[in-house]
Amino acid sequence: MVPFDFQLRTRVVFGQGTFDRLGLLARGLGFKRTLLVADRGVVEAGYVGKAVRLLEAAEVTAMPFHDFGQNPDSAMVEAGRQFASSLDVDSVIGLGGGSSLDCAKGINFLLTNGGAMADYRGYGKCTSPLLPMIAVPTTAGTGSEAQSYAVIADAETHMKMACGDPSAAPRIALLDPEVTFTAPHHVTAMAGFDAIAHAVETGVTMKRTAMSDTFSHRAWRLLSEAFERVLLHPADVDARTAMQLGAHYAGMAIEQSMLGAAHACANPLTARYNLTHGLALAILLPHVVRWNGGIAAERYAALLNSPRRRARDQEAPEALAGRLEDLAGAAGLAMKLSDSGVDEAALPGLAIDAAQQWTGTFNPRPFDAAGALEIYRAAL
Ligand SMILES: [Zn+2]
Repeated sequence: MVPFDFQLRTRVVFGQGTFDRLGLLARGLGFKRTLLVADRGVVEAGYVGKAVRLLEAAEVTAMPFHDFGQNPDSAMVEAGRQFASSLDVDSVIGLGGGSSLDCAKGINFLLTNGGAMADYRGYGKCTSPLLPMIAVPTTAGTGSEAQSYAVIADAETHMKMACGDPSAAPRIALLDPEVTFTAPHHVTAMAGFDAIAHAVETGVTMKRTAMSDTFSHRAWRLLSEAFERVLLHPADVDARTAMQLGAHYAGMAIEQSMLGAAHACANPLTARYNLTHGLALAILLPHVVRWNGGIAAERYAALLNSPRRRARDQEAPEALAGRLEDLAGAAGLAMKLSDSGVDEAALPGLAIDAAQQWTGTFNPRPFDAAGALEIYRAAL
């Protein structure tokens, strides 16, 4: 068994109604003046107003920042740093989907360590610790609240940069299923498929450990059983809860296991075609599972919890790919690349970009531009 060195850096506070504890939790960490990073959808849903009231009641002054988009980039993070630099904040709260949480982390890097986002590409480049952060996810998706990475796009190339530091892990992840109820159907679908892709990719990477497998497998069970239900019945508390916990467990798995070829191939599609992350993954992941199948069959079988017989293991990749196609279909995400305006001539260029993605280096089958091209062709 692969040795591991595992440390939980984030306290997890979970349960219906726990959002009401935001003010007291912030005060408990010593927050006095906090930067509240929340996307506009969260403002419209009323959560920012509620957060400010809860914080004020606990004598914490909140300074809200909303000036960023769906895929936060280095320019938006820089704007956040400029907004916050004169406010003398001692802490950060990220409230919203993955974009809010990643943007909050990105601003935190620049506020505490200066420079530009690209300086923090990779892991452990900070010389000073980041400000303490509370993460409150309002979608079940990225699992960013469980991670010490901020994923920020380069404003010029639009390519994603994974920037990590141990102190970037939130001090508290506040998981209240009730705040995910207001997510629109397409957000639930896209974010949910992203979480599913995290469970599947973390379950087979080169870096995975017995510990990350525990989170990947439990995440897959929760997400694959709840995804169709939550799409059909958005107010189903049990399904929303399973999605939120599943996304969080998958985020914990990423923290140790990293991701694979589906994320490596998805990133250039988002950069060049503005394809939503979740949609790109829904198109690619079944093909990546088949492409990895020869090497990772036993791991996929373990994910599916199928009987541990060799003959069955060989069927696991196809069974899993089929199940993923069903889940994408239920979410209205079953598409081909050609449906999104990608044509054959663009594939070699996309494949070169995909091969340069850090996340591809963790894929169980050695991944390069030739492999990326095979995956894109299968998904065309
Ligand atoms: Zn993802």
